[in-house]
Amino acid sequence: MAEVQRLGGQSCAYYQRGRCTRTQNPKASALAKCELLEARRKVGAETLDRLERLKRLADPEDREVARRHVIQKNLTAINRLSCAGYVPARNDGPLCVHQHLSFCLLRLPECEGRCEHYLRRRQFSEAGWVGRS
Ligand code: SF4
Ligand code: SF4
Repeated sequence: MAEVQRLGGQSCAYYQRGRCTRTQNPKASALAKCELLEARRKVGAETLDRLERLKRLADPEDREVARRHVIQKNLTAINRLSCAGYVPARNDGPLCVHQHLSFCLLRLPECEGRCEHYLRRRQFSEAGWVGRS
């Protein structure tokens, strides 16, 4: 008997470079986040918190010295962060080629062809938007 093959999912709105970006559940979404981005966010939030606390310093010069120190510490901490799968999207940029929004495509499931959640991607043509409304 002939094997029935699924159509490819390339035209699905959730399809990104072979992966399915459709949210499965909150836990799976959390596990699929880009760890480098999350770590940078955490360092950034700590830096903002420190900078906020500097406002308590009465002397403007002390404040400026402390501000530079905090910013330098932030840069050092950010530069130390790494991810084994990181591949720069551009030669000099911080973005990883595997990053999609806040997710890591490598951590998302592969699209194995059109499934019941398939959602036709909208495309713009001279006649206007086609696909889902
Ligand atoms: S491989 Fe890239 S996108 Fe994935 S977690 Fe690492 S840095 Fe983030
Ligand atoms: S066809 Fe299904 S598995 Fe493939 S990207 Fe779309 S929703 Fe995900």
